[in-house]
Formats: sequence, C-alpha cells, structure tokens
Amino acid sequence: MKSISAQRSIDLDTERTASAAPCIAGDRPDDWNDAQAGGFDLLERAQALSSGDGGTFSLLPTKGLRTCCRCFAVGDDGEPAGVQFWHRVDDRGRSRSALSGLMRCGSMLCPVDGSARRRRASEVLKAACLRWMQSGGRLAFVTATVRHGREDSAEAVHLWLRAGWAELGRSRQVKNRVHGFWRAMEWNYGRNGHHGHYHAIAFLKPHIEGLGPARPAVNVQELTRNMFDMWSRGVEAAGGKRPSRACFHVSEVSNADALATYCTKMAINAAGALAAEAARADEKVARGSSRSVMQVLADATAALTKARCPDAQIDAVERRRLWRQGIADARIFHEVVAATRNLKWIIAPRAAELRTLFGAVQEDLDVSCSTATEGMIARGWTLVGGMGPELFSLVRAKHGLATMVRAVAAARDAGDASLALLALIDAVGVNGPPYRPVPPTSSVTS
Ligand SMILES: [Zn+2]
Repeated sequence: MKSISAQRSIDLDTERTASAAPCIAGDRPDDWNDAQAGGFDLLERAQALSSGDGGTFSLLPTKGLRTCCRCFAVGDDGEPAGVQFWHRVDDRGRSRSALSGLMRCGSMLCPVDGSARRRRASEVLKAACLRWMQSGGRLAFVTATVRHGREDSAEAVHLWLRAGWAELGRSRQVKNRVHGFWRAMEWNYGRNGHHGHYHAIAFLKPHIEGLGPARPAVNVQELTRNMFDMWSRGVEAAGGKRPSRACFHVSEVSNADALATYCTKMAINAAGALAAEAARADEKVARGSSRSVMQVLADATAALTKARCPDAQIDAVERRRLWRQGIADARIFHEVVAATRNLKWIIAPRAAELRTLFGAVQEDLDVSCSTATEGMIARGWTLVGGMGPELFSLVRAKHGLATMVRAVAAARDAGDASLALLALIDAVGVNGPPYRPVPPTSSVTS
C-alpha cells in the first residue's frame, strides 16, 4: 500500500458526520482526513483477509464488519441501487468527498464507522459542554482504569470496568455532587494485556443541594476521593484487583481550550494512530508497548497480507513468523469484539436536564430534511455522479474504494470530480453499464 500521507488528503465522511464544522485540531490540519482514508484502506485490506481461505480463517469476526461498505443490490424502491459520489468545498476551502448508497455496519470497532462515530460524538460533546460552561456550569474530566495483567481476559477487564462504574453511580455522595456523566470506553493492548478504560466528563452541580442555604461549591478533591472509593469497591467486588490510587484521575476543566483539546484527542486517538499505522504498513510492523485496538487490527492486517503475498521478498522463516504474529494480533482483536458485543462504547448522560442539553445540540448540528438527498444538498454537497452496482464493483475491484473517494476529493469542483471518476472508469477498460448520476434513495448512509 502506498503511503497515504503522500496523497491529497480528503474527507471520507458520510453526510451525517460531515455536516458540522470539524473541531479537530491535530498536529496537522489534515490528520483527520488521513485517518479517514486509512480507515477505508484498512477495512478493504482486512476484508480481503476475511473471505476465508477455504473457510478456515477470517480476520474480521462479525458479518457486519465483513460486509461493511458493500453496495446494496436493491434499493428501498425495489430498483437496482447505486453508489453516489459527492463533492464539497468546506469553510476552509478544502475539497471534501463523501459517498452514499453503501451498507454500513455502525460498529465502533470498524475502521470506517468507528472513526466517523467518534468524531460525531466529539462534536456533540464539545458543543454541549461549551453551552454548559457558558451558562455557568462546571465540568471535570474523569479517567477510570483497572489493574490488569496478561493473564486477564478482555471479558474480565470489561466486567470490572462495568462493576466499578455501576458502584460509583449508586453513591449518594457522588449523586449529590454530579448531575450526570458522559462516558466513553477506550481499549488498548500492551505489555500487561488488555487495557480497557473509561474517559468521562462529569457535569458538576454548582452547589451541594440540601435544606437551607446553598453549601459551598463542589470540592473536586473530595469528589475524587468519593468516586475512587466507590470505584475500588465495585471493581473488587467483581473479582478485580484492588485499584491503586493512580487508576483513577479527576481534574476540573479550567477553560474551553482544555475542553477542545480533550474532544480532539477523543476523536482522533483511534483514528490518528490508525493513519500512522496504515502509512507504514509496508515497513516492519512496529510493536509498541501499548496499541489501540484499531492499531492491533492494522498490525494483524499488515502482517497477514505480507505473509500471504507471493511477491514479498521474504524467506519461508520470515513468512511463518509474520503469519504467527498476524494470527496472534487477530486473536486479540477477536477477543475484544466478543467481549464488547452488544455494548455501547459511548454513553450520554441520563439526567433530564442534560438529555435536553444534548438533544438541543444534536438538533443544531443536524440540518433536518425530509430526504437524504435534500439533507446532502442542504449541507452544501454536490452530486458528482453515481454508478450502478455492477459498474461500481468493477471499478472498485480495480482501484479500491479509498482511491475512488480520493480522486473525487482531489478535484477543485464537482465538474472536475466527475471527470476524475470517469477517468477511473475508463481505466477499467470494460464496457460496463452506462455511467450516470443515480438519484440517491433513502439508503444514504450515516
Ligand atoms: Zn463499518
């Protein structure tokens, strides 16, 4: 695979996630776009390792992941469905591309959907938190981890996390000080095995409520002690090791910049690492001390792809080593998928007041439209063109999905983008069904 950083970077978001101005401020302005492109590349490469060599091995363990981004055979109206390509120039003058008409799995462990959902969640979170702060509310960042070793399964770690949080949520002292929590789970794998952990934002009550005059504002140190005690109790009761004080960290959010940095990190963590990983896929796979679960998948994909590539200039010993390494990483990925099945990775606060706040923010970020097509147009997208399922699969087989979307994004305007797509179709050299803009149906993906 070519280095994606050498390519013109693009936005591969689908319409929903592309709607709001990005709050991403990574090291470079296009970090996020690189990550998104890397996501499509990784998904397709991992899927290529999942068709089953005689059905013995599949890198992607669920059907959703294996079929994500496939074209629908038939649309909602019974007509053959198609794939539509869209172009847009964002408010910073950068060309973007999006596509619609593909099935999406929606999994947080999907290289494409996980990134899109994290970014979306970070936009909503940031907007909601800013409103909260503007109206005088206070916030605190919470990081909650458990002690773990190589011998602990992903399922056990996940059980301790849930038990710790449940206990914390039952505490009256915590309830007295916090309106509610927004919470996201992250999963790394390192020297000490599975490292699942929570990042949360606590919406602090301005005062401890009670009879009589309002008492002093919440003391964060005191709150931290309460929360840590409850967390430890819950984790231990579920069979986990007694958490050390370093397992639990709380700090008050001092200003809007700190908040923006936090949201950015949350959105880009998995995705940014993924881009770096995809870019060096041809090199010797780095074995970092701690890798995000997306990096583990990228490592597995790189190693297995190379081990199976007949042209790779490697001897049989190296080939076997790569294969074993790839399978070991694939097992880790499978374990995390199984342990976190049917689970929400991101949980919005339940308190009525906060639900209203998040709901209002979400509405502002979405442009409400009656159909998906109108929604895309209302968000400033121009339809570049579309392909029927047959033509799409031919062009995709030749170029790959990421290349197609990159070609659209590299164009200055929709007209150029249309020509770029036609050039890719010409390169296939077959007389497929005619290329035509297909009006999108309600199957536009989000
Ligand atoms: Zn997906």
